[in-house]
Amino acid sequence: AVRVRFCPSPTGNPHVGLVRTALFNWAFARHHGGTLVFRIEDTDAARDSEESYEQLLDAMKWLGFDWDEGPEVGGPHAPYRQSQRMDVYADVARRLHEAGHAYHCYCSTEELDARREAARAAGKPSGYDGHCRDLTDDQVAVFRLERREPILRFRMPDTTIAFDDLVRGTLSFEPANVPDYGIVRANGAPLYTLVNPVDDALMGITHVLRGEDLLSSTPRQIALYAALADIGVGDGGTPRFGHLPYVMGEGNKKLSKRDPQASLNLYRERGFIPEGLLNYLSLLGWSLAEDRDVFTVDELVAAFDIAKVNSNPARFDLKKCEAINAEHLRRLAPEDFVRRLVPYLQAPGLLPAEPTAAQLELLAKAAPLTQERMVVLGEIVGMAGFLFVAPEDFAVDPDDAAKVLTADARPVLEASIRALEAVGDFGPEPIQAALREALVDGLGIKPKFAFTPLRVAVTGRRVSPPLFESMELLGRPETLRRLTAALA
Ligand code: GLU
Repeated sequence: AVRVRFCPSPTGNPHVGLVRTALFNWAFARHHGGTLVFRIEDTDAARDSEESYEQLLDAMKWLGFDWDEGPEVGGPHAPYRQSQRMDVYADVARRLHEAGHAYHCYCSTEELDARREAARAAGKPSGYDGHCRDLTDDQVAVFRLERREPILRFRMPDTTIAFDDLVRGTLSFEPANVPDYGIVRANGAPLYTLVNPVDDALMGITHVLRGEDLLSSTPRQIALYAALADIGVGDGGTPRFGHLPYVMGEGNKKLSKRDPQASLNLYRERGFIPEGLLNYLSLLGWSLAEDRDVFTVDELVAAFDIAKVNSNPARFDLKKCEAINAEHLRRLAPEDFVRRLVPYLQAPGLLPAEPTAAQLELLAKAAPLTQERMVVLGEIVGMAGFLFVAPEDFAVDPDDAAKVLTADARPVLEASIRALEAVGDFGPEPIQAALREALVDGLGIKPKFAFTPLRVAVTGRRVSPPLFESMELLGRPETLRRLTAALA
């Protein structure tokens, strides 16, 4: 049975690289009817924070991921927060040491640096040189007298390590390039290099899908798995690995977690929806079919195939991400679309925490005018915010006012007021007919010039949803009030 894990460290804000990794693991698990384990790798007290942990959970739920084992749902291998599993790691570390798979290393940072420099200068491999691999009792006694605190270092086998990567095919690493590495700090704190494979072994993980940046730790972890099997930790199996390609951002540089463009919160705030974002992120290294960029998560899960992931770096293309999101917005059922718009009008205070039935009805009427032309939900503020502003708070964009509401606009506004006072039914067609007659036929102005001042006076901006529908939604009194105010 397939068992995969998503195991982020709770540092900083969730970012798109992390979401892509979560997505591929989730899709892989669901495609194979397997189990997704959500594990929190929070053993680095200096960098991890409770706030990041809460944000991670919130992000996973917002995106619509579910997990079979992990925080909030528990499972047979609980706890799933590594900070609560320290006794497990201490025990495994002790046993690795006793069995000779790991040894105490007393080298100081300064000594390591100096020897690395020397090796580099001599053109030799500059990784750990095995200095403390086979210390005599006397040497250890001297180090102890010097009050050195040892770290625990894993003893790599002197053999080539090869594995069949699910994305990149067969990879092989020579011993000279994979030196012995630290697994427990001098203060007893276990490192990622230990806790990650230990938990994978204990939790029966069968497939590890993770970013290419972790590729260099894979041969080390494979060797550690063998040692764990030797001391009876886990079921003795080694997971299959698949390394997901790098994501390149602006200027063809690797998208880093600190890149503002990488922050998931940014996409949420702008009004990307999970459907659109997940669709786009799945394209970073994978594709459903050559001619299909837009699909649902269900279609993604049904088609997901790790063997089809491309090992070449993927380019993050914001324009394409936006276009795909726009397409998913268009697909939303009207009520669903309205429901999702509400928070974006609440954020700037255009709607109260508890909108009235009348406000929701107005939004439901305005929504169809915006749904087709929207890229992200946050655009509702610019597109329809004018409908929700109290008369005393309504303001025209000063730039547009200066450019459009000039002396030339006065006759247009005056004729429009007269026409709209006289029109019988205040619906889009009668409004349009009355205004055309008054402005185009009456004043002889081209429609393009006739309607722009009206648009600015009524909606506050030059770009808005269709003008006549907007007037209808606003109602006759408020429309006339705004046109009159624009004359002042
Ligand atoms: N906690 C690790 C990270 O966030 C997980 C790496 C892995 O998937 O093995 O980078």
